[in-house]
Parts: sequence; structure tokens; C-alpha cells
Amino acid sequence: MPEVRFDRPEIDSFTRPYWDAAAEGRLLVRRCRDCGVAHHYPREFCPGCWSEAVDWEEASGKATLYTWSVVHRNDLPPFGNRVPYIAAVATLAEGPRMMTEVVDCTESDLRIGAELRVAFRTMADGGTCTIPVFRLAGTGVE
Ligand SMILES: [Zn+2]
Repeated sequence: MPEVRFDRPEIDSFTRPYWDAAAEGRLLVRRCRDCGVAHHYPREFCPGCWSEAVDWEEASGKATLYTWSVVHRNDLPPFGNRVPYIAAVATLAEGPRMMTEVVDCTESDLRIGAELRVAFRTMADGGTCTIPVFRLAGTGVE
């Protein structure tokens, strides 16, 4: 029996554009045409004004670090093989906050408000999937 994994999104027809864009190295958010506010995670209607006039928009990939926690134990496979890692909330330049992971650094490198840039992790084991993560600005390809 294959191991159950908890690191893969359940992709449906609505979220497919988001994951396809990630595979191309682009981060998408949703923006409301009525009130102008962007949101994330993606929803089919605006969480601010309930309008259904919401479109995909490519985000700048710029963000600041809102908060983080170093995860030392996670029993959900395959996260146990990745500890310790930095689970974080990033404030996107477009406004929404996003649950994510900060990679390629240690906790001592982090400060609230630190500039982040989106990066992408492609997982090829168990089916190819690309997810957005973040790294500190100035520490990678930008
Ligand atoms: Zn709206």
C-alpha cells in the first residue's frame, strides 16, 4: 500500500491555474474587480464583498515576513523527513497573507518584516508538483 502523503494539494478545475502557474515559476493571487482587493488562498468569490467578479493575477513575488515557527516534529508523512523547517506567514506585496515555508536559511537569519521573495519547490517523487515557498530577499535567483 502506498504511503499516504500530506504534502500534496488536491488540485481541482478551479485551482488548476494556480498550480500550473507555480510549475512555470509564477505566483498567482485572486483580485476582485468590484472592490479591488486581492485575496489568497484562492476563492471563487471575493471574501471582502462577496462579488464573483474575481480574476487571477500574477503576484510580484515580493513579500515580508509576518511571523514564523520552526517545526521540529511533524508526524504527517513526509514532513517528518524534513524537520526542522520554517513554517511562516508572509504578507504579500499585493496585500494578502499566505501560509508558506521559508527555505535556505536558519531561524537566526529571520526578522519580523524581513523582505522575502517567492521561490518554487518542485517535488518529483510521488508525482510532479510545484509549490510556492519563500526565501530571504537577496539570497537566491530573483
Ligand atoms: Zn470584492
